[in-house]
Amino acid sequence: MTDGAGPAGPAPRGAGRFAPTPTGRLHLGNARTALLAWLWARRAGLRNVLRIEDLDPRAIPQGCLEGQYADLDWLGLVYDEEPRRGGPCGPYRQSERSELYLDGLRTLDRLGLVYPCWCSRQEVLRAAVAPHADDEGPVYAGTCRPQAPARLGEDGLRVGGLPARDGRLPALRFDVARALAHLGLDAVAFDDVVAGPQRFTGLGDFVVRRGDGVFAYQLACALDDAAMGCTQVLRGMDLIASTARQLLVLGACGLESPTYAHVGLALAPDGRRLAKRDAATALEAMRAAGLSAGAVVRALARSAGLPDTADLDALADAFDVTRVPAGPVVVEAPA
Ligand code: GLU
Repeated sequence: MTDGAGPAGPAPRGAGRFAPTPTGRLHLGNARTALLAWLWARRAGLRNVLRIEDLDPRAIPQGCLEGQYADLDWLGLVYDEEPRRGGPCGPYRQSERSELYLDGLRTLDRLGLVYPCWCSRQEVLRAAVAPHADDEGPVYAGTCRPQAPARLGEDGLRVGGLPARDGRLPALRFDVARALAHLGLDAVAFDDVVAGPQRFTGLGDFVVRRGDGVFAYQLACALDDAAMGCTQVLRGMDLIASTARQLLVLGACGLESPTYAHVGLALAPDGRRLAKRDAATALEAMRAAGLSAGAVVRALARSAGLPDTADLDALADAFDVTRVPAGPVVVEAPA
């Protein structure tokens, strides 16, 4: 089956989503996020959307996308809208949504909120205000930030439309301070339904498009959540600072923001964080070892304080997002 055509009108309201990056097979932690996001939307009577975050095609190993589909199918998570089935807000793969992201950049450029940055990775790190603030990495010192906003225009926004320096085409960065001023804010604050009230200051100007033309997660994710009518976002606590950036993008573009639920990270029984490289927690390995999908769903359900059942309808009925732990949670090995 092919992906749906571009949206003809406004996105239907109300959806939850799971938005994996297909750089590996799904492990128990990813599966937990997928399951909880799916149950929350189902419980709320909303659409469930599967969006594939494959912005950088070179980072996607062959077969990973198909592998993730197989993992989700095995768990029994059926999506109302997804790449294989299409839907009114498609395409559902970010690699096919560049026009939307470019449009977002145009809006930000009209407001003077993006600027070109020629800094190399080493230069960013050397000048960083804080070396590794959160998932976005070092806090950018603002080396290339212009004194006064300058419109880049259509030519400047074109990849290759601005001159290279030291052989590097510029990335585009989002001007956080100017965006906050534009929105009349001194911090980004939001109420997370799991983690409670949040307030972020000191965010560095983040990249919205890399020098090689690849759009950045923060921009694409924010624009897609709005365009796909995602009114609720459940994901891991490791992305909570990203939410502050995405809220700035949404606010600047005049788009509605979803309700956010950042859930505690899943830990392996030995207390380590689950990682894609841990083969033992990959769903694929569990399946190969003869475990049933039901056993996995039950282990994930228990880790979120839900009844010990693999019946997705029963789990959706019992689901209460405010009771999902905000702290790290050990997922017992399914048996
Ligand atoms: N694609 C991101 C990831 O796999 C998650 C994005 C999100 O849920 O917002 O880590």
